[in-house]
Amino acid sequence: MEDKEIQIGKYKIKVVAKDCIGAASCIAVSPGVFKLDENNKAVFVDGAADEAENILMAAQSCPTKAIVVTDAETGQQVWPD
Ligand code: SF4
Repeated sequence: MEDKEIQIGKYKIKVVAKDCIGAASCIAVSPGVFKLDENNKAVFVDGAADEAENILMAAQSCPTKAIVVTDAETGQQVWPD
C-alpha cells in the first residue's frame, strides 16, 4: 500500500501504511485529519485540517509510530524523534 503525505500548516504528515495497525488513537485525537479506510488503515480526511500541535499529539498517540511529522520549512523530522 502506498504511503500518503499531506501538508497542513507548517507540518508535512505521512502515514506509513505498513506500520498502521488500525488502533485509531490518531482518529480519537484528531478526527479532522485522520480516518480509517476500508482496510483499517489510517488515511487523511478530505480537506484535512487541525491545529499543528494537535496533529503532533495525534502522531505521538500512535502505538506503532506510524505517523511521521516533518517540518515543511526546515525539512527536519519532528516525530518520531
Ligand atoms: S494511531 Fe497509528 S496505528 Fe492507529 S490508526 Fe492511527 S496511524 Fe494507524
